[in-house]
Amino acid sequence: MARLVMKFGGTSVANIERIRNVAQHVKREVEAGNEVAVVVSAMSGKTNELVAWCADASKLYDKREYDAVVASGEQVTSGLLAIALQEIGIGARSWQGWQIPILTSDAHGSARIESIDGSGLAEGFARKEVAVIAGFQGIHEASGRLTTLGRGGSDTSAVAIAAAIKADRCDIYTDVDGVYTTDPRIVPKARRLDRVAFEEMLEMASLGAKVLQVRSVEVAMVHKVKTFVRSSFDDPANPMPGTLICDEEDIVEQQVVTGIAFSRDEAQLTLRRVSDKPGVAAAIFVPLAEANINVDMIIQVVSDDAKTTDITFTVPQADFERARALLEAKRDELGFASLQGANDVVKISAIGIGMRSHAGVAARAFKALAEKGINIRAITTSEIKFSVLIDAEYTELAVRTLHTLYGLDKA
Ligand code: ADP
Ligand code: ASP
Ligand code: MG
Repeated sequence: MARLVMKFGGTSVANIERIRNVAQHVKREVEAGNEVAVVVSAMSGKTNELVAWCADASKLYDKREYDAVVASGEQVTSGLLAIALQEIGIGARSWQGWQIPILTSDAHGSARIESIDGSGLAEGFARKEVAVIAGFQGIHEASGRLTTLGRGGSDTSAVAIAAAIKADRCDIYTDVDGVYTTDPRIVPKARRLDRVAFEEMLEMASLGAKVLQVRSVEVAMVHKVKTFVRSSFDDPANPMPGTLICDEEDIVEQQVVTGIAFSRDEAQLTLRRVSDKPGVAAAIFVPLAEANINVDMIIQVVSDDAKTTDITFTVPQADFERARALLEAKRDELGFASLQGANDVVKISAIGIGMRSHAGVAARAFKALAEKGINIRAITTSEIKFSVLIDAEYTELAVRTLHTLYGLDKA
């Protein structure tokens, strides 16, 4: 007997027929003698709709009420799956985040899980009852208010619950049958990976591969949760194992580059002819940090006269206008000549632990992109990845070019 967490994403619970299919996957594990906690997302499209309703009701909505609204999608699917399980003779009950409770910080809209009391779930297992848990949501204890964990947060609910109840495994069921070398919807030649290292998965997720929420990978890594990504569309009677997220040591054949990720959620700002003196970078970036604006790539160019410099950097698209307004307000203090912005940019990244021991990996990409006529606006590198910022219109061409360049195309 094992203890399992099974998580089903939005497309897997998109309607009653699919919820019945999910119930069959759960039934298989229960009949194999396992204790099962299921975590469900809202039906696909539901969370977007709820978010849009909040924005429609008010431009400056109260984030606590936003959480009250958007957490409701998961309440619906948890109840429906419990009903579908009961219907086929499996004991089940739904759990909302606050009932468990899943305690979180008070950062409404992107709260962090602080602790989970697994005792109620364990009592349910003793009664031979499947726990069907609403993902994405928790409660802030001091205020008693509902919270949500950020978009894609049900992945994190699942992994954190697996850690809390000491599950033997956490299976993330989704609409693809594992983690691929890049988004299989963009590159048909993408290959499914049998295994991917925690560090690589962390980079892939934070650089745009939305198959797992970044925090879920962090939690899996810290608590050593054995996590698989697999398909809910496999035959429930005969499913494939999917991709295991594991320690680097457990990967036998290590490629130099494991995957290519891309993020469209980028915006570029350039300050022209800023006076080149000590403290100028601080004068720009400290206020942005204080406004909670995450700056990613930064390039500073010394100009000919050595008195002024150009500074280019990127921010998430949602913060673009705010960052622009903040800098415009400081135009006199910073003394720049002009502020330019671009929203139609994309960040393409290559990730691989093998980069640690191989030189010139990024240089090959620069050459290959140049040969396709793709101009690079900014570059960043670190130990196991590099990223380039390019015009959004070249996204697919660039991802495919790098995928082929690093030998990732399937035969
Ligand atoms: P769910 O609703 O199940 O949480 P998501 O839409 O959040 O599913 O994540 C699954 C999607 O992630 C896939 O449909 C795929 O398009 C996308 N994706 C992006 N990068 C990758 C990758 N490297 N491997 C697999 N899927 C990826
Ligand atoms: N329903 C939430 C979202 O779309 C959480 C999730 O699906 O993981 O972001
Ligand atoms: Mg998801």
